[in-house]
Amino acid sequence: MVKYGQKKLVLSAKQHQLPTDQISKFAIKVIKRLKQAGFEAYLVGGGVRDLLLGKTPKDFDVSTNATPEQVRRLFNNARIIGKRFKIVHIIYSNNDTIEVTTFRGGNSQMLQVEDAAISREGKRFEVQVNRDGMLVRDNSYGTSLEEDALRRDFTINAIYLDIQTGELIDFHGGLYDLTQGVIDIIGDPETRYREDPVRILRAARFSAKLGFKLSKRTLEQIAPCAPFLRSVSPARMYDEVNKLFLTGHAQASFKVLTALNLFDQLFTISPMLLNSSTCRDFLNYAFESTDQRFAEGKCNKPHFLYSIILWNEFIWAFYEIRDDLMFSANNINYKSLISFLAAQVVIMQYRITAMPENIIRSIALLWRLQFLLESKDPEKYVKETTSYHAFRAAFDLFKLRAHFDPNLQSRVEFWQPYYDQCKADAERRRKSNEERGSRFERGGRNNRRSSNSRSDYKRGERSERRSGRAEAGSFENFNETHADRQERMNKARDWRRAMNLEP
Ligand code: ATP
Ligand code: MG
Repeated sequence: MVKYGQKKLVLSAKQHQLPTDQISKFAIKVIKRLKQAGFEAYLVGGGVRDLLLGKTPKDFDVSTNATPEQVRRLFNNARIIGKRFKIVHIIYSNNDTIEVTTFRGGNSQMLQVEDAAISREGKRFEVQVNRDGMLVRDNSYGTSLEEDALRRDFTINAIYLDIQTGELIDFHGGLYDLTQGVIDIIGDPETRYREDPVRILRAARFSAKLGFKLSKRTLEQIAPCAPFLRSVSPARMYDEVNKLFLTGHAQASFKVLTALNLFDQLFTISPMLLNSSTCRDFLNYAFESTDQRFAEGKCNKPHFLYSIILWNEFIWAFYEIRDDLMFSANNINYKSLISFLAAQVVIMQYRITAMPENIIRSIALLWRLQFLLESKDPEKYVKETTSYHAFRAAFDLFKLRAHFDPNLQSRVEFWQPYYDQCKADAERRRKSNEERGSRFERGGRNNRRSSNSRSDYKRGERSERRSGRAEAGSFENFNETHADRQERMNKARDWRRAMNLEP
């Protein structure tokens, strides 16, 4: 197998024996329709890579010579997303979205711009870079697959599958790198990281996820280019962090990111804390249990992730200020102090990874609940603590802490039965809801009562999102009665008032 020399390698279906039956039927549908309309279309990216590695692909990406507008015209369920880098999402269901990208072309029409996208002499430049060499717009479409491959990030992500002929097409030695377990960036590493510093995080992610090592040239430019990460939009950073830590390889991501000195670029955690073995052991243990949850098919949520990662930063600041105040103030208002410090820590983090508002509120709630769980007189707080939807997540964080702090063990024993009870209640509600759901299905789609309760739920969910109270990705609310929800929302409002978070 050839690696260097940029030789194109084509493997027939007989040669590669890829389990093509695992390819999403929706991806096949999209490719077929594009081809029927006279366009070229290939499967590429993580889908092909993971199939070659014998893993179940997370999603499927399609590359075509049709422009985003042409793709949208072919599909009713298509949506163009992104400005900087336009792609089309063809949505079949929540879990079945096929991402279609148009062949990217070279940078011959590149324009260096100071800030935003502009045009010169009426000519629109579809590839624009800022002074640091960062692509602020990359919508120059190419005509060939070869050109498209050059604009992809790593060799292992630039292998194309033609589902009609069954051929695998590899321009950059990706197949060879897959056999060697190597992540190798395409083109000049410094230029590619400058163009899009997120590629640095992607290199770390694939290394953690696949257990691959970085090629020497891919690795060497990471340290000098890491400062460019500061120019990446915080919203994009938020997405990347979720991919690094919520998808089953958090412990490995932590290891790779700390080895590359990137962890403290992603989180506002002071070097003093990050270098302490207590903090590292805590994070390692927490990430291990996050990965365990993922392996068990349980959902990991961003607010829990951030509450773990920033916990030490928050509690350190809390103890420091409390000790200072103890000397100078007679009466400390702990509620205000906690909410003030939580806001401070979270806002600093927000500047790097723009977490949605409801996540921010949930992080602060998980931290505040730690004080109730830790109370010397827990009996007093049972009603309040267990009434929060976040109680179970807060107790999960508490248990992680108790693993390193024997003083908390007696509280774990105290709260465990309440936790079990809450879990059983949620399970019961989920089951009864499932039954109700199947009655709804049997009753047909025109069943008015059921359909009303569904739209009630949708309305409830929307309004909760607006009020910032709903926890991201939490579908347990679905099981609540209207009265339950009302009560919970009232409590939430009271809590927000108490924490000075009410807008
Ligand atoms: P997974 O979906 O498993 O996380 P993936 O490789 O499919 O991994 P996606 O984000 O879905 O990652 O991107 C699909 C493909 O698009 C990649 O495989 C790669 O070829 C290309 N790509 C994505 N992001 C970049 C980037 N920042 N620079 C260059 N190419 C990219
Ligand atoms: Mg993908």
